[in-house]
Amino acid sequence: MQIHCLKLHGRRLNLEIIVRSLVIAALAVLVLSSQSLVAGDGLARMAIDKLKATHEAVEALQAELRPVEPRTDYTDYRAILHSHSHWSHDSRGQIEEILAAANKVGVKVICFTEHPASHYDYFRDGHRGLKDGVLLVPGAETGGFLAFPTRSIQDEKTDTPQAFADLVRRDDGLIFLCHLEERMDWDINGLTGSEIYNTHADVKEDKRLMASLVSPLTLLSLIPALRDYPQETFAAIQDYPADYLKRYDELCQKARLTGVAANDAHHNQGVRGVIQESGKLLIEDLLGKKVVELDPQKVAFLKPLVQDKKPGDAALEIDLDPYERSFHHVSTHLFMREQTQEAVWEALKAGRAYVAFDWIADPTGFAFYAEKDGRRELMGAEIVDPTGWTLKAVAPLPGFFKLVKDGQVIKEDRAREFEFAISEPGNYRLEVFQNLAGELRTWILTNPIYVRPAGADAAGK
Ligand SMILES: [Zn+2]
Ligand SMILES: [Zn+2]
Repeated sequence: MQIHCLKLHGRRLNLEIIVRSLVIAALAVLVLSSQSLVAGDGLARMAIDKLKATHEAVEALQAELRPVEPRTDYTDYRAILHSHSHWSHDSRGQIEEILAAANKVGVKVICFTEHPASHYDYFRDGHRGLKDGVLLVPGAETGGFLAFPTRSIQDEKTDTPQAFADLVRRDDGLIFLCHLEERMDWDINGLTGSEIYNTHADVKEDKRLMASLVSPLTLLSLIPALRDYPQETFAAIQDYPADYLKRYDELCQKARLTGVAANDAHHNQGVRGVIQESGKLLIEDLLGKKVVELDPQKVAFLKPLVQDKKPGDAALEIDLDPYERSFHHVSTHLFMREQTQEAVWEALKAGRAYVAFDWIADPTGFAFYAEKDGRRELMGAEIVDPTGWTLKAVAPLPGFFKLVKDGQVIKEDRAREFEFAISEPGNYRLEVFQNLAGELRTWILTNPIYVRPAGADAAGK
């Protein structure tokens, strides 16, 4: 669904998009034909009855949502930290389309991560400012990072990833590791944070899914799933990002890092078939590149699609990743007092943020904090001396909570509220899951609360 940008440059773009579309399409066919699917994989989740059960489970959660008494005077803003628009070579997304999608699903901040190119300057030309109620911030996906500089760095060349990170940070820019799966050995100083979820990593890891390339004709099998359960179909490949979180926990041992979600929104996954004057069906991808031209009179399954249609009509439309859908899938929730870039910077630097798979349920009201004698410290905070502190969390829904300390799960509970009295230093973060159609799906991943030993200096603030 979301694509991996680094591998989509130049001539490889079109091929990759087709291949990826076919991969997705192949899922549907395998789902329909296989009886021995492993629970918990993308293929199994794309079976129509499973999609239906997932959809019903999501609806049932809606009924359980309860407002939460605010635990903080911050407001929870939904932010997208990895999105492309028409400035990137592999997206046609116009700002009007992107803003409409954001408003539809409640996204308030979009930090764009365009692929840099010589014909434009992503900082000077990129989207910025408050538009239609959405705060836009220009930035780039480049060299293994999501970079949000505070000035143009178009003409400044650097030799190493560390030098680039230093350049972005020099004037208070923000920089995150992206596509962590490709750089598990990177150890860069001075980062703002790291992606802790990236859908593409899921797809790559799923060998059976990747091996399921079959005929383009199978693309059609996706139509009913996308028509009836578009969000659930999109979410079918969502898995617990175990490798990412393992590496993230390791990196957090050395320096605080703000964990964020990667939507990698492009709106470029799908195909559109238009009837030509010749009567043939021209199938193009969403970037307008030709995939194939087929004669409906010779390809039996196309016949019903072109019935009663004339040249110029669209007979086939498969759109996997409209912005609305990729924005609704996952976001990074920021605790801020106002909708300004300064507030975004403050929240991201402080780690006052959590990742949520919003398609499962709106987590607004969720908070994870440490409390002592009426004093509260939100996620991202550093506490010196664990004595007397209790970790607490509250959610608008009961969920399965897992408290992770330095990479190890140390407490699990099913509840609306969670509590744990801490006695040891360490990095404590919380994961919350929801049971959807018999499977625990990741709903919330928080940033850590960093608990330092008594007498230590709070580092990195
Ligand atoms: Zn891209
Ligand atoms: Zn990207």
